[in-house]
Amino acid sequence: MKTIADLRAQMIAAQKLTGQSSLDRRAPAPKAVPALLDAKSAISRFIAENGESADAYRLLSMAQECLLNYAGARSSFEKALSLSNQRHPKNLKHLALLREYEGKWNELPLTPDELLHLGAHLTSALATHACDHTPKHTKAWLAQCSPGQQDQKLKALRHWGGYCDCEVLSNAVQSAA
Ligand SMILES: [Zn+2]
Repeated sequence: MKTIADLRAQMIAAQKLTGQSSLDRRAPAPKAVPALLDAKSAISRFIAENGESADAYRLLSMAQECLLNYAGARSSFEKALSLSNQRHPKNLKHLALLREYEGKWNELPLTPDELLHLGAHLTSALATHACDHTPKHTKAWLAQCSPGQQDQKLKALRHWGGYCDCEVLSNAVQSAA
């Protein structure tokens, strides 16, 4: 049986693989995703077996945040706060940031899942041919895998610093490196 301390250690190890800083809207590095999903299911299992606890919901929120599920992260964090009865300004600030990012994601035309797939596609495309500093692979992927709103999606990627394929990979979706 895993303890909260085991789960925390597992979650921190998974977070280290992501290459994300806190409240970073980049997709986690692909190598981090299996570790994050493992940590998330271990935490959910812990809650199912041991009942609800503020510590467990905090960890769940952290896993969801790393996976860019801000709606889930916000709801788990609220649950943690209500279970602990803690109203530290630091916690409220974090909750406000989660809400802000949840709102921003709602406006963005690409889902976190699509960003992960785009990242994997660009990683393999750029492994064989260096970037020619156009977003041609990004455009091709969008046309094939995420039809509709092409201009808005490219605009969103540019907004994150993704003007060409290599920049989309390093600035918008996070490289596998
Ligand atoms: Zn480039």
